[in-house]
Amino acid sequence: INLLSDKAAIETTPPGIIARLLANENPFGPSDKAKKALHEAISLSYQYPIEAIRSLEQKIQTFEGLQKDQVLLSAGSSPLLLAAALAYGKGTIVSASPTYEDLLQKAEELGTKVVRVPLTADYQYDLDAMEKAIDQDTSLVYICNPNNPTATVTDAARLKAFCERVSKKTTVFVDEAYIDYLDNPKAVSLMEGLRQGQNIIIARTFSKLYGFAGLRVGYVAGLPATIARLEKYAAGPMSISATSLGAALAAYQDQEFLQDARTKTVASRSFLYETLKAEGYSWLPSAANFVMFPISMEGRKFATEMMKRGVGIRTWKFNSKDWCRVSIGTMEEMQAFAKAFKELA
Ligand code: PLP
Repeated sequence: INLLSDKAAIETTPPGIIARLLANENPFGPSDKAKKALHEAISLSYQYPIEAIRSLEQKIQTFEGLQKDQVLLSAGSSPLLLAAALAYGKGTIVSASPTYEDLLQKAEELGTKVVRVPLTADYQYDLDAMEKAIDQDTSLVYICNPNNPTATVTDAARLKAFCERVSKKTTVFVDEAYIDYLDNPKAVSLMEGLRQGQNIIIARTFSKLYGFAGLRVGYVAGLPATIARLEKYAAGPMSISATSLGAALAAYQDQEFLQDARTKTVASRSFLYETLKAEGYSWLPSAANFVMFPISMEGRKFATEMMKRGVGIRTWKFNSKDWCRVSIGTMEEMQAFAKAFKELA
C-alpha cells in the first residue's frame, strides 16, 4: 500500500492543477442554502455556538431515531477517528486491507497492534476471515462502508448479521463517510443496529456528498456510554466554527440538493467509465464518488505524469498491481482527466 495520505497528496499539488481528483471531494457543493446560511452566521459569530450545536445534534438524533447523548459532533470526522484510536487502542484492532488507513495508522503510532485482513478476490470485505481474527484482545473492528479506496459496498444483510454477532464481543466502528452516495443510505447504514442497542460506532461526515470538506463538520453516533468515552479524547463540537454549524444546519438532509449532487456525480462517473472502456481498461464498479482501476504504468510515475498534465489522482499498490483512484469531479474535470489519460494509456 502506498502510504501517502490524502493530505500529503494535496500538499504536493501544484497551483496549476486543472482537475483535483485526489481527495474524494464534491465539487457540486456546498449548496446555495448552505452558502447563504454561512454568510448569515457571520454576524453572530462573536458568540460561542452553543445553540447551533444543540440544534444540529437534535436534528441528527431526530432524523436517525436516536436518543439524547448518542451523537458527538466534531470539525470533520477525522478528529473522531483519532479519538476512537485513542479510546480503543489498548487492545488489538481488526480491519481490512486496503481500506481507509487513518484510524489504523494513528492507532499503530500509539503502539496498537492492527490486524489487516485482505479483501476477497472480488474486492469485498472478507467478513468470515475478519470474524476469525477477532479474539479476547480485540478492542475495535474498523469497517469502511462504502470502502475507500475501492468504492465497493458490503452486502447489507451480511454486514448487519456480522455486526449483530461481533458487537457482543467487541466494539464495531463503521465509517459511513460515503453512505450518502447510495440510492438508499438508510437500508445500508448500520444505524438500525445501533438503535437496537448494539455496540456500534457510526462515523459520518459532511465532507463528501454535502461538499463541506473545507467547512469541517462530521459526527459519530454510538451508545451513550461509548459517546462519553470518545468525548474524553475528541476535539468535540466546540471545534466547529459557528459559520460551519450554520451551514450544516441549512444543508442537513436537503434532499433536493443531495439528489442533484448524486445525479451529477453519476453522470461524471458514467463518462469516466466510457473513457476507461474506450482505452480497454477495467474498473471496480463504484458506489461512491471515486473509482479504482488497475493501471499498467508504475503508480508513482503515473501520478507524476498525470500531474504534469494538470490532473491530480492517487495511486495504490495491492494484489501485486498498481491502481489508480480517481475522484469524481465536474464534467470539465473528467474531460481533463480523459485527455491526460489518453496520452498515457
Ligand atoms: N473516512 C473516510 C472513509 C474518508 O475517506 C475520509 C476522508 O477522505 C474521512 C473519514 C475523513 O473526512 P473528514 O475529516 O473530512 O470528515
